[in-house]
Amino acid sequence: MDTYDALLATITPKSGPTREILDPATGAVVGLAPVRGVDDLDRAVAAAAAAQPAWAALGHKERIATLIRVADAIDASAEPLAQLLSREQGKPLNGPNARFEVGACSAWLRATAATPLEAEIVIDDGQTHAELHYRPIGVVGAIGPWNWPMMIAVWQIAPALRMGNAVVVKPSEYTPLSVLALVAVMNQELPAGLVTVVCGDREVGARLSSHPDIGKVMFTGSTATGKAIIKSSADTVKRLTLELGGNDAGIVLSDADPKAIAEGLFWGAFINTGQTCAALKRLYVHDDIYDAVCTELTAVAATMPMGVGIDEQNVLGPLQNKAQFDIVSRLVDAAKGSGARVLLGGNPRLDQPGYFYPTTLIADIDNSNPLVLEEQFGPALPIIRFTDLDDVIAQANGVDVGLGGSVWSPDLAKAREVAARLEAGTVWINGHGGVHPMIPFGGAKQSGYGLEFGVEGLKALGVPQVING
Ligand code: NAD
Repeated sequence: MDTYDALLATITPKSGPTREILDPATGAVVGLAPVRGVDDLDRAVAAAAAAQPAWAALGHKERIATLIRVADAIDASAEPLAQLLSREQGKPLNGPNARFEVGACSAWLRATAATPLEAEIVIDDGQTHAELHYRPIGVVGAIGPWNWPMMIAVWQIAPALRMGNAVVVKPSEYTPLSVLALVAVMNQELPAGLVTVVCGDREVGARLSSHPDIGKVMFTGSTATGKAIIKSSADTVKRLTLELGGNDAGIVLSDADPKAIAEGLFWGAFINTGQTCAALKRLYVHDDIYDAVCTELTAVAATMPMGVGIDEQNVLGPLQNKAQFDIVSRLVDAAKGSGARVLLGGNPRLDQPGYFYPTTLIADIDNSNPLVLEEQFGPALPIIRFTDLDDVIAQANGVDVGLGGSVWSPDLAKAREVAARLEAGTVWINGHGGVHPMIPFGGAKQSGYGLEFGVEGLKALGVPQVING
């Protein structure tokens, strides 16, 4: 599948109902997605259950070798995958966007393959010998969002396969083609039935999270849907990993250098045009350097080109869908209406195609404004002034989610002290949002539970079993 047309032809349905998927930058038809229902899901689960025992029986060594071949297959189709991702999701090819995302898919597969997982000898004192092993779960369900559709699918699929499981994937209704194409490429190297994509709506998602033959659900998406999944999975006591919404705070201490941190702040907030779970969504800046940070950040932001994803020069794209465009518009309008100061953007052009919302920086905004308190999930950053450290930590912790956070200061000891007081799953120092396949990642509070990546991430895709004796 080394051309875009060949990749698209592979995933275009030959029969059955379909729906058009439109490019969020232009409104052009990208391709046709199949419309599947709960019967299709049931068939996929049955096929996965049939394929799983032989896959588990291969053992880690063979499965690792296969995952590496899967990564090679993704690399071989990387450019057409990135083209499709860019057209369907909207993100540009360049910058930390489509090509970056496809590269992360193969990098994560390789890292997941390379992660050692030995049985742990818990006690061996001459009288008692106990070991902790991890058995495969069986069939894992994977439900994903539309912002990083390929990468998040790999985050769910790779550790599941490594641990001997089969996977049924339900992609977001907004980005099914990206996930279909990615899995089609992966399936060049995988046994039939082991990984299946079932495109469907929330009814299909709800069936997946209540299905008696699915042992675990890996879910990444909104907190509201995460709560629905907790409920629908209760009757079958499914294992869950929930990566949910966030509203990450960044705190810039008074000794930070505004010019030196401006680009890091920009990408921390605006990666994927702000449509990233662990992006910086509320920026708290000490009064001493508030104006300088606003000036430097505005200067960086003003240079970043936004436009159609497949145009090579762009690094920011449209919002992925109309609903998200409306959320960002509503929140920025609320901020403007409150008298907050617009440093940049805030005025979408409605006379052009595409869900483009300009890069927006809002200063002198009150901490109780909806743009601060709600997850805007778009290219709009509120910048809040602070003077007292205890107060700003209370403000940063004053929401019911806690995915990430950041502290910006050249004084690492002081920054780490502040970091330890933030109620978030990850706190970065002098950066925001960077993830690594060997570093565990997960949320605090209503941002979810369970960890992905590294050894902890592998353990989450197994059933712990103690062998005592
Ligand atoms: P969403 O919750 O609307 O949808 C996610 C998926 O859940 C979709 O595939 C959808 O079809 C499915 N779904 C909807 N209702 C369901 C139900 N009742 N049962 C089962 N499945 C159901 O989320 P979204 O709008 O696609 O993604 C954006 C959200 O995801 C943001 O809140 C963002 O912060 C969050 N997110 C979190 C992480 C993380 O790692 N914590 C990563 C990316 C995105």
